[in-house]
Amino acid sequence: MWFLISFNLAGKLAAFLMGWTSPAAALALWFLPDFLLAYHVFVPGAQGLVRVHGRFSTVKREVWLTIDDGPDPEDTPRILQLLAAHRARATFFVIGEKAAAHPELVRAIAAAGHEIGHHTHTHPVGTFWCASPARVRRELDAGLEALRAFEVRPARFRAPVGIKNLWLASALRVRGLVCIGWSARGLERWRGDAEAVAARAVCGLAPGAILLLHEGPRVPAAIRVEGIRRVLEHLKEQGYQCGVPRPEQLGNH
Ligand SMILES: [Zn+2]
Repeated sequence: MWFLISFNLAGKLAAFLMGWTSPAAALALWFLPDFLLAYHVFVPGAQGLVRVHGRFSTVKREVWLTIDDGPDPEDTPRILQLLAAHRARATFFVIGEKAAAHPELVRAIAAAGHEIGHHTHTHPVGTFWCASPARVRRELDAGLEALRAFEVRPARFRAPVGIKNLWLASALRVRGLVCIGWSARGLERWRGDAEAVAARAVCGLAPGAILLLHEGPRVPAAIRVEGIRRVLEHLKEQGYQCGVPRPEQLGNH
């Protein structure tokens, strides 16, 4: 991270010094480091600011199903039924304020043996990239506090739409959270029906893949839960189990 910041500042200084003699080079020096920094903030798998795990090690035919943006009173109970029917274990990356609003759902997720991960307290998609250090701390601590009421201590964090910022790495580290990305996602709001969502999620499937799907009202009505059901069916057809990796399985990924 400090390399990116130093590179950015050095670019600005060089641009300032060259501004009078070579305006074109100065412009390039001013903006190119910004593009590099933006890449590591906005590209979900970019590793320059935060270590993001995009796969896990396994010798079995298994993948990690992760479900973001819940809990949701309509979807979560149905997803839990589906997972039970497929004997699948998953991680729910929950939003803190939704968890606080639906305590019975958080308890049901935990009681069914699934993992609960941290997905910020308010899911600030539009402003997380420029959140101040205090705002980042508030998002993390309020989410942890909401889950503490259920004696849940998450060890894993997923950034909203994979967006990171300058202060996230250290804030995660002191709270013992690791950042989890994905290797494939359903992109439910993009285009297509539930089958298209499932096809995207299992595209290029391989052991150790991390699949990202969503629940809740931001998912189009025809895809809610149905996309996850089809993913589970595809996995079954291809002989894959859904499991939650141990910390050591994330090591080199
Ligand atoms: Zn989300």
